[in-house]
Amino acid sequence: MSDTTYGFDTLQIHAGARPDPATGSRQTPIYQTTAYVFRDADHAAALFNLQEVGFIYSRLTNPTVAVLQERIATLEGGVGAVCCSSGHAAQIMALFPLMGPGKNIVASTRLYGGTVTQFSHTIKRFGWECKFVDFDDLDAVKDAIDDNTRAVFGEAIANPGGYIMDVRAIADIADAAEIPLIIDNTTATPFLVRPIEHGATLVVHSTTKYLTGNGTVTGGCVVDSGKFDWSANDKFPSLSQPEPAYHGLKFHETFGNLAFTFHGIAIGLRDLGMTMNPQAAHYTLMGTETLSLRMERHVENAKKIAEWLEKDDRIEKVTYAGLKSSPYYDRVAKVCPKGAGALFTVSVKGGYDACVKLVNALEIFSHVANLGDARSLVIHSASTTHRQLSPEQQEAAGAGQNVVRLSIGTEDADDLIADLDQALSKASA
Ligand SMILES: *Cc1c(COP(=O)(O)O)cnc(C)c1O
Repeated sequence: MSDTTYGFDTLQIHAGARPDPATGSRQTPIYQTTAYVFRDADHAAALFNLQEVGFIYSRLTNPTVAVLQERIATLEGGVGAVCCSSGHAAQIMALFPLMGPGKNIVASTRLYGGTVTQFSHTIKRFGWECKFVDFDDLDAVKDAIDDNTRAVFGEAIANPGGYIMDVRAIADIADAAEIPLIIDNTTATPFLVRPIEHGATLVVHSTTKYLTGNGTVTGGCVVDSGKFDWSANDKFPSLSQPEPAYHGLKFHETFGNLAFTFHGIAIGLRDLGMTMNPQAAHYTLMGTETLSLRMERHVENAKKIAEWLEKDDRIEKVTYAGLKSSPYYDRVAKVCPKGAGALFTVSVKGGYDACVKLVNALEIFSHVANLGDARSLVIHSASTTHRQLSPEQQEAAGAGQNVVRLSIGTEDADDLIADLDQALSKASA
């Protein structure tokens, strides 16, 4: 079932799934298997030549993972998706077909900390470069793109919160430069933002977060809009030129708008091997069934709590974009009218010491390096994830000494407020 005329709430339960053909099982079984028996030698040859689609080996494809791929692709309005072992794996899988030594990407300065590290240091080992630019400065984005730029990368609702990207404006710049825009939609989810409708070519996810929603498994996904013309110029030879490993097959010519997805499986998963396992796909499928219900509550709670915190005189500042005081408040109506997500930072009076006391005193909020769980989470970045950075770098990353990041869960908002209230009292004592 992939009929996009159904509503989001229906698709999040049904898209990609059908009763199991062998047993009639209504829920998608966990196909805990490595390999699949070929009908005969001709069938095997056709599968290996990419002349027929089917299951060969679970590094490439698995029936449980395939259901999740189709479900996320449908929710995002894409033509296909490839699931991977983590969000960070998904980012490499998204870039891999586009890049080569000497090529670069232009990325927003407002990104998940782990992504900043991946793009600043690790991708250099592949000969790739990243230029970080303030995405509110459209001229700077244009200027940063050069002949070797192969993608533009940003987060729709950015971690650590409070920033909403003008996806359409950046998509127009990427279009003019004939390169794809990749959106990390982890903190927004397709319920709040559908980046493809705003002009994005590819969408990546850490399914570890809201899509699973219960803190059980890591996973990632790359969704293709199917709208990019990979053969319009010679920038994307992996997709437009003959592939030696498949007897000169050209992915774009052969698979049309599914070229990126097929390349992701036939080359990306085959050779990089960052595969999602069927157990992880199962947990994430369970999560997607309630995505809209959870996101509505996440947003409702986040708004209530941000408003309460903003009025409290133990607090210096709250960065939630759903607050009228936010410089990005107007962008919410344009980019994510259903809400600004559930992730934001709070500057606490009393600096580093007050933050550490606050984090220690909270009872419902868990002090963890994660987000997007049904449980409310808190982290003091300056003493943890951003500990190695200089005070200036911490400030620039929105992780100053006096800042805590909250990921608001789906518990009772009144209980969360009471917990923050008692912990703030201890922190400012
Ligand atoms: C967590 C996260 C990632 C990385 O995902 P993993 O599943 O931890 O590898 C990437 N982007 C954002 C916005 C995230 O929150």
